Amino acid sequence: MRIDLHTHSTCSDGTTTPAEVVAEAARSGLDVVALTDHDTTRGWDEAAAAAREHGIDLVPGIEVSCKHEGISIHLLAYLPPTDGELFAELEKARSSRLTRAQRMVERLGEDVEITYEQVLSVAGADATIGRPHMADALVANGVVANRSEAFERYLYNGSPYHVGHYALDPVRAVELVRAGGGVPVMAHPFAESRGRIVDEDVVRAMADAGLVGIEAHHRDHDASQVERALAIARERDLVVTGSSDFHGAGKPNRLGENTTAPDQYERLLAGASGGTEVVRARHRAV
Ligand code: AMP
Ligand code: FE
Ligand code: FE
Ligand code: ZN
Repeated sequence: MRIDLHTHSTCSDGTTTPAEVVAEAARSGLDVVALTDHDTTRGWDEAAAAAREHGIDLVPGIEVSCKHEGISIHLLAYLPPTDGELFAELEKARSSRLTRAQRMVERLGEDVEITYEQVLSVAGADATIGRPHMADALVANGVVANRSEAFERYLYNGSPYHVGHYALDPVRAVELVRAGGGVPVMAHPFAESRGRIVDEDVVRAMADAGLVGIEAHHRDHDASQVERALAIARERDLVVTGSSDFHGAGKPNRLGENTTAPDQYERLLAGASGGTEVVRARHRAV
């Protein structure tokens, strides 16, 4: 069983549609894939249909934007509720991402060619807007060659062009996901290459609130960061996951480059108690 529990589509900042993510996952030999777009469930239906077509299991998920004392945290929510307070919070984050993009484009526009309309148009209608879409606009205008260069030169955390957006408190996010029967897993907790990271006491507070798992195996973790994640998983008896964080052509991450062990996946599913279910369509050996 090959299991990849973290991918993005054009519903957020990936470059392939939900159906293409799932088709490519099946072609890559994965048995289970989770679609975890930033702050949205919009890709689920299309992904579910593709999962049935391609004979692969689909775990509906969301990567929820959180923030603790100004430090960004990503919380993967598997089989989360699709209504209630979490839903309202996601809407708030998505709309705040729009005003934030406007403000960032105002700042960027003083020095390079970029417009808000263009950012919206490269993102496509209804996608969760993020910095990768600003990067794509800069690429289209010949300002930079690719997303990575856009982040290195203009969009990194702490850049003078950077503006934050509304994001949930991580402990509250864990509570809301659990309250709706979903399974919260902290994404790439120690990925320092992405910017500032929270210290372990924040992870412990999330664990106290009901965090189920921690993503240890991820391209943005070096060996010592993987070890830190495994240590806190042992300490708090958390499920350990691994995943690609696939973004299509937007990042070098390839589907299945990191995977989750089947026993850990089973534990994760055992933690779900809400109305959202795995789409079970995997072709089983006869
Ligand atoms: P935002 O959600 O708007 O703050 O943007 C963060 C997103 O940007 C992350 O989810 C990543 O997918 C993407 N990202 C961060 N750093 C890079 C990079 N160096 N190259 C490409 N994408 C990146
Ligand atoms: Fe992303
Ligand atoms: Fe993330
Ligand atoms: Zn992600």
